[in-house]
Amino acid sequence: MGVLRLVLGDQLSPGLSSLKDAGPGDVVLMAEVAEEATYVRHHKKKIAFLFAAMRHFAEELRGARLNVRYVRLDDPGNQGSLRGEVARALEDDPALTAVVVTKPGEWRLLQDMETWRDLMPVPVDLREDTRFIVPLTEFYAWAKGRKQLRMEFFYRDVRRKTGLLMDGEEPAGGQWNFDHDNRKRLPKALAPPPRFLPPADAVTQDVIAFVAERFPDHFGDLEPWVFATTRAGAEAARDHFITEILPGFGDWQDAMAKGEPWMWHSLLSIYINCGLLDPLDVCQRAESEWREGRAPLNAVEGFIRQIIGWREYVRGIYWLKMPGYGQTNTLNAHRPLPDFYWTGETDMRCMAEAIGQTKRHAYAHHIQRLMVTGNFALIAGLAPAEVNDWYLLVYADAYEWVELPNTHGMALHADGGLMASKPYAASGNYINKMSDYCSGCAYDVTAKSGPRACPFNFLYWDFIARNRESLAGNPRMALIYKALDRLDPVSLSAMRDQASAFLGSGCKARL
Ligand SMILES: Cc1cc2nc3c(=O)[nH]c(=O)nc-3n(C[C@H](O)[C@H](O)[C@H](O)COP(=O)(O)OP(=O)(O)OC[C@H]3O[C@@H](n4cnc5c(N)ncnc54)[C@H](O)[C@@H]3O)c2cc1C
Ligand code: SF4
Repeated sequence: MGVLRLVLGDQLSPGLSSLKDAGPGDVVLMAEVAEEATYVRHHKKKIAFLFAAMRHFAEELRGARLNVRYVRLDDPGNQGSLRGEVARALEDDPALTAVVVTKPGEWRLLQDMETWRDLMPVPVDLREDTRFIVPLTEFYAWAKGRKQLRMEFFYRDVRRKTGLLMDGEEPAGGQWNFDHDNRKRLPKALAPPPRFLPPADAVTQDVIAFVAERFPDHFGDLEPWVFATTRAGAEAARDHFITEILPGFGDWQDAMAKGEPWMWHSLLSIYINCGLLDPLDVCQRAESEWREGRAPLNAVEGFIRQIIGWREYVRGIYWLKMPGYGQTNTLNAHRPLPDFYWTGETDMRCMAEAIGQTKRHAYAHHIQRLMVTGNFALIAGLAPAEVNDWYLLVYADAYEWVELPNTHGMALHADGGLMASKPYAASGNYINKMSDYCSGCAYDVTAKSGPRACPFNFLYWDFIARNRESLAGNPRMALIYKALDRLDPVSLSAMRDQASAFLGSGCKARL
């Protein structure tokens, strides 16, 4: 007699709620299934990372004397879906008397699992995912009755709850947030530090070859390989970040530079989101660096806020608002995604850089996702459903619970301002201030209209003008609408005509 314990690809944590009472006689089921690998056509590197990390985790569990049933994608009996694999495992072993699963991170899959209670011949126990700092019931209680949900206030409560960066009742350093110290442009003479980018081990190399053969049409490159796929590797990446990179994280958090995909970012979301690293532990290690005088407070606070603030907050918003969160389209945006989102082939240097590295590494840092590709999608009025799918597919750290609020809400403002109190729309001026992209671009960032005008300039003002009805009532947009009204009508009309021609051409990729 025993229990079937299903472990999903983003549940690679030994302390998982579905494993906590595992014992002899139980079977841990892990399955590579086509349904999960292809419901969107994920980046090849994302599939390879997850399959390799799953195979390593299966060995880790076997090392802990658990009986693991691991089904590879090319197993001849593979049923192609998690539901099918659970049913097959129960059929093969009639001594299994129950199924235990930790709830998944996507609404779609949770809905499916809830039907298993009727479909499976044994009881199905769906357990909460306890790997987050704030349980969903606590988030719902926090959100209940509030007129407006804002991350900053949620974050302060999580600081109090965890004690992170607290001196008694007060925030360390006398402030909750040090963002005003964090928006520096990268000086020319300063290069980002070298990164810990482990080569593929034998298990990973096998998976890379398999994915190359099995998913040739999926987006993205498999080489160069840049991710660890074991817990020890993820921990080494964490330690390297904390000791070598974290001190510069705050200062250069919003900066971008040509040919520099990583800057001072941690590259840890991929490991945290699949369970190889624990978010609270990462934050506690970062705090120790500050307490021991090895990293400045603005860097450590900024980093911790991203994890205990933004990461926990977007998860709460996702589950609070699903189903239906991704269905809204407040700004009435309907244009198809231009081809260059897939190829990176455009004369817009900033877009070519962000998309090119996304293709190569399945990674772009936050400001590239928000202020380059996201900003373009927002001001060009691209359809949220297409943009949401793109972000879910192209990044190795993308799971719907974290991707959707960031894309639909933060980047596209398609949720009417639930995630962000004003749209993150910007002209070329912002990109020029925060990067060196414009100096190598075919477009002229100082030109608002005319043959070489930067598309971000005329699209920005066109976006502001065409969304007046939806946005002008927002107090945080008042200054922008004042600026719009002060624009010379001839120059505004030239920008709007150029925007219309550009959009009418399907966002022409070349000058
Ligand atoms: C349009 C858009 C889509 C995004 N899609 C995803 C996604 O699919 N998966 C994902 O994990 N993040 C997503 N983000 C958030 C953020 O961009 C990534 O978490 C970050 O770039 C990951 O790289 P990093 O580990 O180097 O992060 P760092 O900059 O080093 O930040 C540290 C950690 O903070 C957390 N974090 C930072 N910002 C956020 C945020 N806004 N939401 C949630 N966690 C955050 C991550 O765990 C990250 O590892 C998205 C942001 C935008 C604007
Ligand atoms: S000039 Fe415009 S398109 Fe070119 S890199 Fe700068 S912001 Fe991007």
